[in-house]
Amino acid sequence: MRLLLGIDIGGTNIKIALIDKKGRIKAKKTFPTADFKGNRALIERITGETKKLLAEYGVVKKDIIGVGVGAPGAVDIRSGTVHYLTNVPDWSEVPLGNILKNKLGLLTFVDNDVNVMALGELFFGSGIGAKNMLCVTLGTGVGGGLILEGRLYRGSSYAAGEFGHVPINIAGPRCNCGSWACVEAYVGNNYIVRDVITQIKNGEKTLIKKLVNGKLSKITPEIISRAARAGDRFAKEIWRDVGNKVGTGLAGVVNLLNVEKIVIGGGVAEAGKILFDSIKKTIAARAMKLPAKTVKVVKAKLRRDAGLIGAAALVLYEAGI
Ligand SMILES: [Zn+2]
Repeated sequence: MRLLLGIDIGGTNIKIALIDKKGRIKAKKTFPTADFKGNRALIERITGETKKLLAEYGVVKKDIIGVGVGAPGAVDIRSGTVHYLTNVPDWSEVPLGNILKNKLGLLTFVDNDVNVMALGELFFGSGIGAKNMLCVTLGTGVGGGLILEGRLYRGSSYAAGEFGHVPINIAGPRCNCGSWACVEAYVGNNYIVRDVITQIKNGEKTLIKKLVNGKLSKITPEIISRAARAGDRFAKEIWRDVGNKVGTGLAGVVNLLNVEKIVIGGGVAEAGKILFDSIKKTIAARAMKLPAKTVKVVKAKLRRDAGLIGAAALVLYEAGI
């Protein structure tokens, strides 16, 4: 059986896995991104671990269809150039795809992590069969990957799909991208948590405070979700509000692109029904009738290993398998 090799390069960890054509992980390795002083050392480790993984699983080069890599930020897919990598100080404009191709002697494709995740959902997850779809990740950052007419839409400089940086207000909080009032500037993890802390300091009574024993710095989206599930009025209101903001941005997407599906993943999506109901309600209220009726908002299916399985899907997609 021929296998795919998926590599997920994250800010915190790097994961490498052997994956079959049905998207099932057969063997996996994980190591921290921050252990490396420079990009050369990191690439050495990636190729070393990859070769080890193949040997341990008892496969050779000809058993591998290709290597797929998901990396943060905009990626120039022609050379597989990854522009930056947080936690690796000298990483700048590294043509990772070309380097890995030469070092491993395998067909290699590199793309942005959320594009890769969108392909993962399209091939193996909640997006199977979709022709037009937006895949959104809600976490520390807010990302997006677009499938249009069955193809991954990368844009004119490989920067398309940045749903997190769609502005939803004229004025508002500063965003990491340098602009302001973007979706991410309202619903990125840190912004949600900061808002909750401010409101608690202003006297809001909520179970959240009890769950962290009064240590407000311990508040996370998971804690807010736990409080909401226990019926806490304030926590539920937080998720309704996040849903309203995400839904406002998505109403614009629905009107512009008439997608049939919006797949939402990432840590914040674990808030579940209350968040999804609020997103759907906002889209129904704010998008135009016909496209609003067509679109289905669903939870992502691939969870923890979405990046790896997506990287494998990238190989299938690019190789036309
Ligand atoms: Zn922004």
